[in-house]
Amino acid sequence: MAIDGRTRLIGLIGHPVEHSLSPLIHNTALSEQAVNARYVAFDVAPERVREAVMGMIALGFLGSNVTIPHKQAVRALADSLSEQARAVGAVNTLVFVPGEQGTAIYGDNTDVAGFLQPLQAHLPELTGREVTILGAGGAARAVVYALLTALRPSRLSIVARDLQKAGQLASELAAYDRNGALSVLPFEQARPAVSSSALVVNTTPVGMYPQVEGSPWAHHSAFSQGQIVYDLIYNPLETRLLHEARAAGAHTIGGLEMLVGQAAASYVQWIGEEMPLHAVRRALAGFLMEI
Ligand code: NAP
Repeated sequence: MAIDGRTRLIGLIGHPVEHSLSPLIHNTALSEQAVNARYVAFDVAPERVREAVMGMIALGFLGSNVTIPHKQAVRALADSLSEQARAVGAVNTLVFVPGEQGTAIYGDNTDVAGFLQPLQAHLPELTGREVTILGAGGAARAVVYALLTALRPSRLSIVARDLQKAGQLASELAAYDRNGALSVLPFEQARPAVSSSALVVNTTPVGMYPQVEGSPWAHHSAFSQGQIVYDLIYNPLETRLLHEARAAGAHTIGGLEMLVGQAAASYVQWIGEEMPLHAVRRALAGFLMEI
């Protein structure tokens, strides 16, 4: 669709943003559905986040995505937060809601829904089982919250090289740990937990392009049939971890589905229509195959 006087905008603010795939995802969806709107990425310095958000509102933006390093800072700008955003302590989606008293800002964290999307079909076999996650950074917070609330695991082991950081993550999400499932382990002691887990999730960046030879888990012999191994990395589409897990008989899930899932959960809030997933997956796969 041509840009005209009625075209509405959706932003992405982060620092940096130039490698983000979100413009490709959202503009593919908007164009597929002939919505007169565009999604544009803006590199915003930390000290100008408030100004950027107020500017988007003044210009009539529908909303915005928020990425690193602003996901925590924008919480203070929101008039209301979703349960997920509050629990995870990070906002990746802002929705600008016009009203008589001015525009209200709603903050959400759609990484939780995005992460769970490809697990929906497996919930019956995973509920109440053991799970392990590798890494304790920003994405791990959304993953731990999602696993605690959606799967109620009997054990959730967070495997990290910085145990203090992992311990802090566990204590901050302890309110959602109804089964007393959370524990923290160093990589060297994690093999029994990885072997006995129904689901193993990599939230570290190890294995990501261009360092595709890397794997966060050296002992691929710990994987077996009946396990699900989920890597948040989407480039490459199949990481070394997933390749080895698949060779050992495990079912594997790549990060592309989470990327699309979190985008779809934001899109519907701005546009009021479900994202056309087929077109978006096709565009993303084509793009990732080329690089
Ligand atoms: P982050 O906040 O930097 O956290 C990374 C975590 O990985 C930290 O716990 C870090 O440990 C650990 N780590 C890094 N290098 C390691 C190594 N060599 N060995 C062991 N642990 C290591 O990053 P993030 O924002 O959580 O993102 C992590 C990954 O998830 C990235 O690849 C990102 O692209 C991906 N992701 C994908 C999606 C999606 O939609 N598919 C969404 C979000 C994130 P230390 O604390 O000790 O450094």
